[in-house]
Amino acid sequence: MKILVSDSLAEEGLKILREVKDFQVEVKSGMQPEELKEVIKDYDALIVRSATKANKEIIDAATNLKVIGRAGVGLDNVDLAAATQKGIVVMNAPAGNTISTCEHTMSMLLAVARNIPQANASTKKGEWKRSKFIGHELYKKTLGIIGLGRIGREVARRAASFGMKIKGYDPYLAKEVAEELGIEVVELNELLKNSDFITVHVPLTDDTNHMISDEEFAMMKKGCRVINCARGGIIDEQALIKAIKEEKISAAALDVFESEPPDTNSELLKLDNVIVSCHLGASTEEAQVNVAIEIAECVRDFLLGKGIRNAANYPNIDAELYKVLKPYIIMCEKLGNFASQILEGRIKEVEVKYSGEITKYDTASLTMAITKGMLYPVLKETVNFINAIPLARSRGIQIKQIKTSVDEDFVNLVSLAVKTDKASKTVAATLSPKRQPRIVKIDDFYVEAEPFGQLLVMKNWDVPGIIGNIGTLMGKQNINIAAMVFGRKTPGGEAVSILNIDSPVLPDLLEKIKKIDNILEVKSVKL
Ligand code: NAD
Repeated sequence: MKILVSDSLAEEGLKILREVKDFQVEVKSGMQPEELKEVIKDYDALIVRSATKANKEIIDAATNLKVIGRAGVGLDNVDLAAATQKGIVVMNAPAGNTISTCEHTMSMLLAVARNIPQANASTKKGEWKRSKFIGHELYKKTLGIIGLGRIGREVARRAASFGMKIKGYDPYLAKEVAEELGIEVVELNELLKNSDFITVHVPLTDDTNHMISDEEFAMMKKGCRVINCARGGIIDEQALIKAIKEEKISAAALDVFESEPPDTNSELLKLDNVIVSCHLGASTEEAQVNVAIEIAECVRDFLLGKGIRNAANYPNIDAELYKVLKPYIIMCEKLGNFASQILEGRIKEVEVKYSGEITKYDTASLTMAITKGMLYPVLKETVNFINAIPLARSRGIQIKQIKTSVDEDFVNLVSLAVKTDKASKTVAATLSPKRQPRIVKIDDFYVEAEPFGQLLVMKNWDVPGIIGNIGTLMGKQNINIAAMVFGRKTPGGEAVSILNIDSPVLPDLLEKIKKIDNILEVKSVKL
């Protein structure tokens, strides 16, 4: 079997692959897309880091390819949909760089506290300005950590050993999990108002894009210092420049930028109290080795038929069963994703109920798909089919699956009862006669909605005029409504409405829709 490694990969990873007699491993980094497109047809496996773009064109040309391994977390450079369409498994290595990124954050924390980069530059120029660089102790200061996943929690452990008080904000993680680490779990506003240092460790999503902007800087303590070693865009760079110039923020440390590399004329790079590095969070020899080993083992085991691990697009089941379950897997992933986006609060319990013919099969992979879909909006690529259930448990979510013979009016039905610390909801889906997923029930309301693309999901009173009002607001913003479904129990009573729309509803429009008379709840959902 032929394996192409098209970006540089640590020797420890290559060794794992070369040890297998049947593998022929070729390392060709720095290929142009045209060359890769030409040679890819010869290979069974492709291993990349971030430089190779495994886009649709490359994947279409890959007639033999069975697996793409990404040595790292982000999958922005791999076209997952195209790979899935061709039956190519895509794997990543989500855990290998946690410690490195955490340690980079700690370095930034100490550097902003003690002005180390500025003092270094000044001293090397021959200056001796001891009073200019007076710093601050971390001891007894409050560190606000936004996002308490793998990296956020490691940062909390280390900061605690410096005697810092830790406040954490993560609306998707069970409080008990964070509290066990001595983190005081608070709302975002409280964290912003009370922290001396703030560090962000969330993925970049629609919700987290510019989550720290003018309003948030305004809430911070004067002199607060902020750190971003997660993703560019979480902190609004223009708002940061303003906050620093107004001396609201006394320093910032950035490893990541809205556009990378940042424009050399960017004002951000000219501010003395902004220290920067060039996306180095995961750049340690150890992390490179860890991700190389992790991905080499996953690809090796897959090619040797020893199972699928860390797959972003496939659960771990045999090929025959996969063929039968594939439409259900797609449906279940959508169902989980849909449920988590229409609910408020931290998910605590999930009960998955299978009924109808589907109960003849082993439904474990469907529960994995539901869990992956449910965690995806908040964890992005770090959740995959294989780690979804253990990750959910480690985040304090209880998952139960039951099969029932109760006749539910559908040939097959997968129903999901989700409880959060704020609400509970049941949603159910089935396959249409053409094997297409349909959301068919929300609580006690029957609907039939296509779970694809952009949706607006509402609870409203069943009175005339609502859709007209929404249509007018959307029309003004050039948003096209592609389909609408309604479900009600009694005329004039409560109803559920789902709209498939052609472009996203931005927060200001969502606020206007919420204010329309007789609308009880509204959520924008992206599937
Ligand atoms: P993770 O998936 O383990 O944790 C992310 C956490 O963010 C989760 O606990 C999730 O519940 C929380 N979260 C999601 N949306 C949130 C919101 N709106 N508000 C508050 N919390 C929210 O991820 P991780 O491995 O800890 O990585 C964290 C970040 O670091 C990611 O953005 C990742 O891309 C980035 N990263 C950067 C580098 C680098 O080189 N600088 C290296 C590795 C990871």
